[in-house]
Amino acid sequence: MNTLARTEPSMVNPHDVAPRSVMVLLVDDQIVIGEAVRRALLGEPGIEFHYCSSPVEAVEIARKVAPTVILQDLVMPQVNGLDLVRAYRADPVTRGIPIIVLSTKEEATIKSDAFMAGANDYLVKLPDRIELIARIRYHSAAYLSQIQRDEAYRALRKSQQELMEANFALQRLTNVDGLTGLSNRRYFEDYLETEWRQAARMKEPLSLLMIDIDHFKQYNDTYGHLSGDEVLRKVARAVQETFRRPRDLTVRLGGEEFVVVLPATPPEGLAMLAQRAVEAVRALDEPHKSSPVADHVTISVGAACCVPDKDGEPLGLVEVADKALYEAKHKGRDRIALG
Ligand code: GH3
Ligand code: MG
Ligand code: MG
Repeated sequence: MNTLARTEPSMVNPHDVAPRSVMVLLVDDQIVIGEAVRRALLGEPGIEFHYCSSPVEAVEIARKVAPTVILQDLVMPQVNGLDLVRAYRADPVTRGIPIIVLSTKEEATIKSDAFMAGANDYLVKLPDRIELIARIRYHSAAYLSQIQRDEAYRALRKSQQELMEANFALQRLTNVDGLTGLSNRRYFEDYLETEWRQAARMKEPLSLLMIDIDHFKQYNDTYGHLSGDEVLRKVARAVQETFRRPRDLTVRLGGEEFVVVLPATPPEGLAMLAQRAVEAVRALDEPHKSSPVADHVTISVGAACCVPDKDGEPLGLVEVADKALYEAKHKGRDRIALG
């Protein structure tokens, strides 16, 4: 978050870099050059200096020292300086470090080869002290602000990802009933609307089952509210497991009322489907000694079906299913009725 709060420089300004952040790595086989550069940088505030006289170890040392700029000699025994430049570029750790090539000659082809190999700058040995320091600072600043930008983008991407996950979790919470884990009324309304439009487009039938636990008030009065909650969970699971096609949706509307949305389900066989829910709750064999209907927990189910019209309202279907439920209650409960 801190990285995000910092303002990014719109232009690289060498003075933006904290003085202690500059780390120079000089790779040159000639000790006298090493000494000369060391002396040039001596007393320069905020510039640390590391010297490597052995080109075969250069990449390894660059990985360890983490320089903000590399001063690279071109002509060395054993290793060609340009090969080293390519080696820094090929290594994921040193890939982005600015490289200033130090050459003995001001020659166009050497310069061109150096830039082709991946160098950022070219200086003829030994450069003027002021120019050397200015270039070291400039390239270090560019490198450090690039790192800072990369970190800021990484942090931004991470927090965007976290935000998305939090929104997703929140979305789930607002759509889910806390007691049973079923979808809730809010989700039901959206889902029914969607399935209604889909059914209208496809000219498919859409069915609904309205379900209510029988004499549930009596149950709570007899066994207590906590046992009542447990029964709600069991009934929820039993109903949900009865309707398992991918687009079937079981919802707790509230209290001891549930609804099942059954897309692409015709009226033929709907009574049988509704009856399956009644049987599933019966099969729980949950004792309910104060029920006038049975000695176990039972439900009543109202079923309705229609082929939706795109200009019609799903609410009408809900009302038909509601009326059927009322009829099932009226006729003695523990049964289904068709709307
Ligand atoms: P009917 O057969 O006519 O449906 O009778 P009923 O007693 O089930 O219906 P009524 O609507 O009179 O009572 C519903 C009861 O459901 C009232 C309340 O105690 C109980 N109830 C509603 N929500 C919850 C809940 O979240 N937990 C528990 N334990 N009980 C609940
Ligand atoms: Mg009830
Ligand atoms: Mg009720």
